[in-house]
Amino acid sequence: MRAYVGLGSNLGEPMEQISSALHAIDQLAGSRLIASSSLYRTPPMGPQDQPDYLNAAAEIETSSEPLQLLQQLQYIEQQQGRVRKRHWGERTIDLDLLLYGEQQINLPTLQVPHPGLIERAFVLVPLMELAGELLWVPGQGELGKWLVRCDCSETIKVEK
Ligand code: ATP
Ligand code: CA
Ligand code: CA
Repeated sequence: MRAYVGLGSNLGEPMEQISSALHAIDQLAGSRLIASSSLYRTPPMGPQDQPDYLNAAAEIETSSEPLQLLQQLQYIEQQQGRVRKRHWGERTIDLDLLLYGEQQINLPTLQVPHPGLIERAFVLVPLMELAGELLWVPGQGELGKWLVRCDCSETIKVEK
């Protein structure tokens, strides 16, 4: 199954956190990394007294079931020292399962497509870079439709 993961970090050398997470995703049993987007510097969502974020998206090919993949992503978060202190607070790494093929999942612990996907510039822009505007978001339509509606002015590509 083709799936997309959103990555975010604003603590502990964000660039290294994201590259470690990409490597760890590629090493997961049953998954391999197909492509990763550029990095984007973005303002924090929620509490404003925290550093800017680096965000990216990854395209993976996976044979893990969605809940298993979520667990694997949460394991990587733990390995990279993720501590939940406050809602939408600072973190070394956040790994969100954005899309899992064209499946719609509504479990207490897992909603796919990720509910923030269509309204967050820091998710839409890297996803667009990987998959293009025709990517189908189940229940929501083509990705491009949401991109034109969002304010991407503060989602700044980081030159490598
Ligand atoms: P947001 O989900 O709004 O981006 P967040 O990433 O800061 O906020 P977390 O603290 O990382 O939230 O996760 C809270 C819970 O969200 C997780 O325990 C997980 O069960 C649940 N969750 C639901 N859907 C998803 C998804 N698609 N990807 C990752 N976690 C999800
Ligand atoms: Ca998130
Ligand atoms: Ca998360």
